[in-house]
Amino acid sequence: MPSLLQRATREVALHARSVRGAAERPGGAICDDLEALLPSFRAEVEALLEEMVAAGHEPRLFETWRSPERVALLVRRGTGSINSVHPHGIAADIICARKLWNASPLFWRDLCRLSERRGLTAGARWARHDLPHVQAIPVVAQSAFLATREEERDVFCLRWMGPLDVLLAA
Ligand SMILES: [Zn+2]
Repeated sequence: MPSLLQRATREVALHARSVRGAAERPGGAICDDLEALLPSFRAEVEALLEEMVAAGHEPRLFETWRSPERVALLVRRGTGSINSVHPHGIAADIICARKLWNASPLFWRDLCRLSERRGLTAGARWARHDLPHVQAIPVVAQSAFLATREEERDVFCLRWMGPLDVLLAA
């Protein structure tokens, strides 16, 4: 089995390619491409979607990577944050395939519960609820993430999402 770093190096190159692909879309377009997520986070989102299905829900991945232009657009509309980590491939918005944003309270509860069980941060916990939103790291870790070199960000996220002994051994 390849080491964390070997895996990260290989997959970060893949990720950079998909982000370049997504970046070629028009500025305001919504990207729901799993490949545009950082590899460590992508694996968690895939598992989370499977768990939601197993819990009887019909999740739909609505948005993954977000262009800086779209961040600016959402900030102007008052529906997005300037500090969003979507442009870094470590956030995803998951809604209900049938009821979209009008999903049942159980859907949102399960999304929050299952994502937290995977070590993810759920927007449902925020003062300004962002029910569909999940991200790899807590808000308090965002500035440290941004200060981390690009090729080390996948491992940075792995530590946050992983078991506590991995985090504390770092
Ligand atoms: Zn989001």
